Amino acid sequence: MLPNQTKKSNLNNGQKYMSKLKVAELFYSVQGEGRYMGVPSVFLRVFGCNFKCAGFGMPRGETSNEVEDIAQVVHMFDDYKQLPLVSTGCDSYASWDPRFKHLSPMLDTDAIALQIMDILPHKGWQDEHLVITGGEPLLGWQRQYPDLLDHPAMQELKEITFETNGTQKLTDDFKKYLFKWRQQNKNREITFSVSAKLPASGEAWAEAIQPRTVCEYEWFGTAYLKFVVSTEQDIADAERAVREYRAAGFVGHIYLMPVGGVESVYTLNARNVALSAMQRGWRYSDRLQVPLFKNEWGT
Ligand code: SF4
Repeated sequence: MLPNQTKKSNLNNGQKYMSKLKVAELFYSVQGEGRYMGVPSVFLRVFGCNFKCAGFGMPRGETSNEVEDIAQVVHMFDDYKQLPLVSTGCDSYASWDPRFKHLSPMLDTDAIALQIMDILPHKGWQDEHLVITGGEPLLGWQRQYPDLLDHPAMQELKEITFETNGTQKLTDDFKKYLFKWRQQNKNREITFSVSAKLPASGEAWAEAIQPRTVCEYEWFGTAYLKFVVSTEQDIADAERAVREYRAAGFVGHIYLMPVGGVESVYTLNARNVALSAMQRGWRYSDRLQVPLFKNEWGT
């Protein structure tokens, strides 16, 4: 759905629920990856990322210019969903590239909570889970999430996943908040789905592999590592990264997931990636959104 509604609830008194998030997408779908694969989920995609990941799907050392071509004609698009999909580089480029920022409105948490109620099939939380994704959702937005999660419409929510690249430390205030959020209901769970970026992404190892940061996530919920791979070199890089995370004390599960925002690329390497994961005793993560929905925006 379009995240540009300005509907207000009558709970909007004082300064409560007025914090703003820059929202690239807000939609309801099936989680296609990782621990919650197959679970009905609300996806809140916030704007901004500290990486570009222009190396995905490219020969080593080369970067994709698919987005450059799209940016040349950005004036043709007034809706996020009209944007072309890409087969190389970051497949959610419009959630962080400043040339597309006009497609991501600033919404207050009251409006976001009401939109979430609108898109849930029963107009309230049942077995659905909330995915806060990006971009990189643990950049500055950590300050705004408590205002959203404290909203009366969010009180029945039990499970949240932060889909992060694993480079952003949690602020002290947000750590306290996460601890409190879980304490309020023993059925609540927090997950950090950490898609750590290997050299195939085009990002530098020293910036992308941050074991101590990811170990800290484990104090506040369940964390797992999910590596996007296609070649033997990628898998060797994943093994090296896992050694570094384990040496720092990381205990969570390891997933391998095939490269491929488009079906032709995904299909080519999914089987090999599954076999590679099995050989190492790691988990395989599909990308259900590709075969089910062709990875279109809003899925
Ligand atoms: S970290 Fe994720 S959102 Fe950011 S550029 Fe890389 S793939 Fe895209």
